Amino acid sequence: MFNIIIFGPPGAGKGTQSAMLLEKYQLTHLSTGDVFRANIKGQTELGQLAQSYIDKGELVPDEVTNSMVEDFLSNHQDANGFIFDGYPRTLAQGEVLDALLEKSGTPVNCVVALEVDEDELVKRILLRGKDSGRSDDQDEEKIRTRFEEYRTKTEPLLNYYEAQGKLSRVFGMGTIEEIFNRLTTAIDSAQQA
Ligand code: AMP
Repeated sequence: MFNIIIFGPPGAGKGTQSAMLLEKYQLTHLSTGDVFRANIKGQTELGQLAQSYIDKGELVPDEVTNSMVEDFLSNHQDANGFIFDGYPRTLAQGEVLDALLEKSGTPVNCVVALEVDEDELVKRILLRGKDSGRSDDQDEEKIRTRFEEYRTKTEPLLNYYEAQGKLSRVFGMGTIEEIFNRLTTAIDSAQQA
């Protein structure tokens, strides 16, 4: 198994790059944001729980998110490995992920963090909001709240992986291909390590 986490603030291109990485490395994709949105659309209990947080641009509580991830992993036991996109987002989630993966005898192998400057991100997200209809992509105040959540709750998690020697910071500006090449260089060298 080979497990990758892709970090980056909202709009950094995690979804786009994950889709390309999945194909190259034959992994299973877990985007917690996509799972929440599918549950909101399907009007499930989980969707109802998550919606008010997502609408405000705030993180969904750890217990809700972690138990969803636990279900996902137990439903995909035959996967080659995972790309975690948008999870973990807090230190507590990172610790739970380690414990869940440990049950299947597999670690987090490689962590990549896309770095993009904030003004570029706001532009990208507002553009995406026009097509996707995502309400959290259409309001600059909600977007700023999401950045703040990333800075205060998610960035500390980068230190956690850096201390384990697993983190590569990747410059996230340029063409999709250029960024993809930087990511695969980082992932390939982790695979050989
Ligand atoms: P994303 O599609 O990854 O940008 O996520 C959209 C929204 O879903 C976030 O702003 C959060 O409200 C929620 N969300 C996604 N993943 C998580 C997570 N790991 N922990 C808490 N909330 C999350």
